[in-house]
Amino acid sequence: MRTDRAETIFRNGILWTGIEGRRDATALAVREGRITAVGTDDDVLALRGPGTGVVDLAGQTLIPGFVDAHAHIWKIGHLLTTLLDVRGAASLGDVATRLRAHAARFPPGTWLQGRGYNEARFSDGRAPTRADLDAAVSDRPVVLMRTCAHIVVCNSRALEEAGIGRDTAAPAGGEIDRGPDGEPTGVLRETAMGLVLRRIPQPTQDEYGAMITAALRHQLSLGITSTTDAGVAPELLDTYRRIDGEGRLPARVNVMALRLVDGVGPVPLPARRHHSDRLRIDTVKFFADGGLSGATAALSVPYRHADTRGVLRFQDEELLAFAREAHDAGWRIATHAIGDTAIDQVLRVYEACGRGPLRHRIEHFGLPTADHLARAARAGVIAAPQTVFVHALGRNFRQYLPDALLARAYPVRAMLDAGVTVALSSDAPVVEDDSPLRGMQAALLRRDADGEAIAPAEAITIDEALDAYTRGGAVASGDDGDRGCLQPGMLADLAVVSGDLRTTPAEALASLRVTQTWVGGQEVYRLTEASTRSSAS
Ligand SMILES: [Zn+2]
Repeated sequence: MRTDRAETIFRNGILWTGIEGRRDATALAVREGRITAVGTDDDVLALRGPGTGVVDLAGQTLIPGFVDAHAHIWKIGHLLTTLLDVRGAASLGDVATRLRAHAARFPPGTWLQGRGYNEARFSDGRAPTRADLDAAVSDRPVVLMRTCAHIVVCNSRALEEAGIGRDTAAPAGGEIDRGPDGEPTGVLRETAMGLVLRRIPQPTQDEYGAMITAALRHQLSLGITSTTDAGVAPELLDTYRRIDGEGRLPARVNVMALRLVDGVGPVPLPARRHHSDRLRIDTVKFFADGGLSGATAALSVPYRHADTRGVLRFQDEELLAFAREAHDAGWRIATHAIGDTAIDQVLRVYEACGRGPLRHRIEHFGLPTADHLARAARAGVIAAPQTVFVHALGRNFRQYLPDALLARAYPVRAMLDAGVTVALSSDAPVVEDDSPLRGMQAALLRRDADGEAIAPAEAITIDEALDAYTRGGAVASGDDGDRGCLQPGMLADLAVVSGDLRTTPAEALASLRVTQTWVGGQEVYRLTEASTRSSAS
C-alpha cells in the first residue's frame, strides 16, 4: 500500500497558485493538513486511494486562503454577538424594532449596546434621543453609539445608572445635550461619552471568546484563512492564548499586542511571545497619528476641510524609546501611520532601530512620498494598506485631501514598483464590506462608491492583488514559509471562488462568491443556498 495516498484531491478547477509559470494546474492533493501535489488532473489523481475524498471544483478557481493582514477581530465579533449593529437602519422606527428584538435575546438588567446609527440616512434626518430609546426599551440601560464613534445616545435607565441628571456638569472636552426644560436629552458628545461608557461592564472572557470565534467564522465565509487582530489589550491576549490552548480557533490569527492602551495608558510589553499552529503573538502595535475623517492623520500640508495638519501622537524620542524596547526584546513592530508626516517619523524610528530578525510594518501607509517608498524598501519595511478604503472612503478623501496628496492616496502601484512588500487588508469593521474580493476590485479599479477615480495611476493587476492578499499577508506576519501560495509543503489553507479571477472583468470581481473554505485540509465553510439568500438581503 502506498503511503503517499491523498486524503483529499481537488480536481477540475482553475488553480491560481501564486507561483510563476504554474498556470496549467487543475488539481491539488492534500495529506495531513498540507499540500502534497499540484498539477493536472491526471498527475494528481494518481495519488488517489480508496479513502481519498475527491472535490470536483467544476471549473471554479482554487486559491491560497486569503490573508487579512489588518483587521479588528474582536470588534467584528462584538458586532456579530452582543453589540447591536444598526449601521443599516433607515429610520428611528427601524432602530426601535432592532432594539426590541435585540433586548429579547438578553436577560433583563443587561446593558444593551448598539453601534452605527446615522440620522443622515433617516428620511426626517432627526437623531434619536432618550425618549425614542425609552419607547423601545425601558427596563434596562441602552447605549447606542453613532457611526462616527464620537457621540452616544442613552435611554433614561442608562443616564440614571451613570448618575447623569439635570445638575451634572459635562467634563472638559465633552457636551451633555439638554432639552428646553434643562433635562439631558440622552445625547453625550466626545469626552462626556465616558460618563456612561465606563459604567458598562467589561465583556467576560467567555464573551470575548465568543466574539473572536464569531468573527473568524465570518471571515472564513469570505475565504480568509489567516487574519490579524491589529492591537489588543492584555486581557484579550489572555483570551486568545486560552482559546488557542483549548483548540477553539477556527482560523489562523496573528495578534498584535498594544503597549499603550487608550483610556488606560502604558501596559508592559507581554512577558512572552506565542507561536502555535493557529496563533502567533510577536508584534507590538503603536499609533503614530490618527485618521483622515477626523483630520488627525499628520500631513505635511493643511487639510482641505479643516485648518489643521493633523496630530503626531509622539515626539521622535518617545516613539523611538518604545520601538527600541520592543525591537531589542525581539518583537516585530507595527505602527499605524497614515499621513506623510507620520510615515516620515516612523521610518526615521525604524531606521534608527536597524534591521532585526523580524521585519517591521507600517499599517495603512496612506500617503507616502517616493522618498518614503525607497526608504521603506531599503529598510525591509512591510506596508499594510487598505485598498478597500478607496471604494468605501474615497468620497471623504476627495473632500479632505489637497490635490497633491489625493493623487498619491494609498499608492499601491508605486509601493510595488519601489520593491515594498504589500499586505492588503480590510481594517474591518471600519468598512462594512470586508470581502477581499471587494478590496482587490478597488485595487484594480481605483474608484470610490460614486464612481469617481482616486489616484487611478495606482491601479495594480489581478495577479498583484491576489499576491498581496495572500503571500503579502503571510510575509507580513512571518508565515510565508508555510502559507500564501499553492505548492507542495504549504498548509492546505484554501478558498474556492465561483469564477475565473483572471478573466472576470474588475467591475464584476466583487460579485464573485467564495463557495468553500478549507483550513489545514479540513472544510470549514461551504456556501449554501440559505447563505446566498441572507447575504443578498
Ligand atoms: Zn485598524
